[in-house]
Amino acid sequence: MSPRTGRGRGAFGDRPHVAVLGGGVGGLSAAQKLAERGFPVTVYEARERFGGKARSIPGPDRGAGPPLPGEHGFRFFPGFYRHLPDAMARIPDGEGSVADNLVAASGMMLARTGQPAREIGIDTPRSVGEWRTAMENVFAGQDVPADESAFFVNRLLYLLTTCRERREDELEDTTWWEFIEAERMSPAYRTFLGDGLTRMLVAMRPQVSSARTIGRVYLQLFRGRLDPSIEADRVLDAPSNEAWIDPWVRYLEDLGVELHADTAVTRLHADGRRITGAELDDGSEVDADYYVLAVPVEVADRLATEAVCRTAPSLRGLSELETGWMNGVQFYLSEPVGTVHGHGVYYDSPWALTSIAQGQFWPDYDLDARADGSVEDVLSVCVSDWDTPGILYGKPARECSPEEIQEEVWAQLQDHLGEDTLPDAHLVDWFLDPEIRFEDGTVANDAPLLINTVGSLRHRPDAGTEAENLVLAADYVRTHTDLASMEAANEAARRAVNEIIDREGIRSERCGVWDFEEPAVFRPAKRQDQIRYRLGLPHPGEAATPIWRTYDRIRGGASDLTALFD
Ligand SMILES: Cc1cc2nc3c(=O)[nH]c(=O)nc-3n(C[C@H](O)[C@H](O)[C@H](O)COP(=O)(O)OP(=O)(O)OC[C@H]3O[C@@H](n4cnc5c(N)ncnc54)[C@H](O)[C@@H]3O)c2cc1C
Repeated sequence: MSPRTGRGRGAFGDRPHVAVLGGGVGGLSAAQKLAERGFPVTVYEARERFGGKARSIPGPDRGAGPPLPGEHGFRFFPGFYRHLPDAMARIPDGEGSVADNLVAASGMMLARTGQPAREIGIDTPRSVGEWRTAMENVFAGQDVPADESAFFVNRLLYLLTTCRERREDELEDTTWWEFIEAERMSPAYRTFLGDGLTRMLVAMRPQVSSARTIGRVYLQLFRGRLDPSIEADRVLDAPSNEAWIDPWVRYLEDLGVELHADTAVTRLHADGRRITGAELDDGSEVDADYYVLAVPVEVADRLATEAVCRTAPSLRGLSELETGWMNGVQFYLSEPVGTVHGHGVYYDSPWALTSIAQGQFWPDYDLDARADGSVEDVLSVCVSDWDTPGILYGKPARECSPEEIQEEVWAQLQDHLGEDTLPDAHLVDWFLDPEIRFEDGTVANDAPLLINTVGSLRHRPDAGTEAENLVLAADYVRTHTDLASMEAANEAARRAVNEIIDREGIRSERCGVWDFEEPAVFRPAKRQDQIRYRLGLPHPGEAATPIWRTYDRIRGGASDLTALFD
């Protein structure tokens, strides 16, 4: 077998040569951080384009113009993301950086079957009164009884006052469904606060996902509404490749990174101490000083053979991790959709739909110049439930043909928004994520996504493995972010690069890694809970009266939800 890249240290001065296996957000982030620190880097990516799940894909090709823009699903950059925007700010684009291509959304739409869709503002409330109104707006019109809404807020307060150890040990083993006691609540509570809001989080199902993961991310989404220093919801001002991935690849090339597309890793070799090589699908072999494994969890699991697991035992846990399906459908329309300036959640739709009308965020992207010139807007929809029967064909998405999926998603959207908002006459074309493959009557998904099921944290490896020269940079790695997302992939890459720097003893700047920020006002309560946890005692809110009653007492006896925010 001929060595594809046999570049050892000698060829690059004193910095070790790093092979990055996988060119998604994790792999490109690691390549960027390494190259910025003077490491020679080569990236091997199986597909023809870089960017992994975040990449744009050429959509329908109709007429003389270039194809319409397609993607796996829309890209949401919540305000609490810190690692990814920091990396984006270093990628040059025109006079500035690609971080300048992030634009804030100003609203969110909650849509329910047969009822007018409601828009809730996501501008930061400037006073306690505005915060109360914002909270009331979330709950208003959902028919959730006031005492159940208050209980839900109480659960959020419980989370805010729980120490880290209790979150990891107790909440990691509890589902979000159990934690918010959805089973004993009204159907409105289960539909809206149980299933509905959770659908905003990538591929999460409250019945199986850990309360720790969902709870922590919920708190961050709420923080987005409260903290005037961050924007709650941001999106790119053009398709992902134009706004971000293409400039990123150019920047890496300028830094001297060697990028090989269409090159899959088929096997890793290990000798019990180190990774001794990686085989590629063209039969050649990679020989590097360090290997950054940046492939998705299901591929990493396949590459983790017995020999590799003996060398890096923490990879054994990969086979315990579960994935779910979340994939996009784009609808190309002859008129702008005219709904909300932000994301929409169709919270009682059987296929767990979320959407965004993209045209309004792409002021300089000329949709008219593409395909046959008839498209004015792109309604990008994510389908997160592939197992529940739909309303048109009575079948789950997994059992439908591509045309049935398109028709069913369109029908569910119309069911929520009305045919006046989404007339059939405006539909020019549509595009289904090509990672969904149809073969012999069965449907397969080439890009599933990690789900943080209860207890999965203990099976997730750290970025630094036991193998001397193997580190991991992908969304399933243990991170503060702890949600399969672009932010987690970037944080994992930073941790992977820090491992290499530390192991080499190189005097080089470590990459920044940050935990979630939570409101300082709750710190004393968390410290109190930490002492109680170490003494084997329950959380103060479980031990005595529910915490919101305590707040009520402090506040002078009011007992309704509103009083909490007075
Ligand atoms: C529909 C959808 C919508 C999403 N929306 C958001 C969102 O709004 N915000 C957000 O933060 N996150 C979102 N996510 C999640 C986010 O996209 C992923 O968590 C993140 O992009 C994962 O990056 P990664 O580098 O870890 O993995 P991937 O993106 O999977 O990258 C891995 C790369 O490895 C390559 N590869 C695979 N096998 C091999 C091999 N054998 N050899 C070489 N290369 C290989 C793949 O082709 C891929 O390019 C969404 C995900 C989906 C599916």
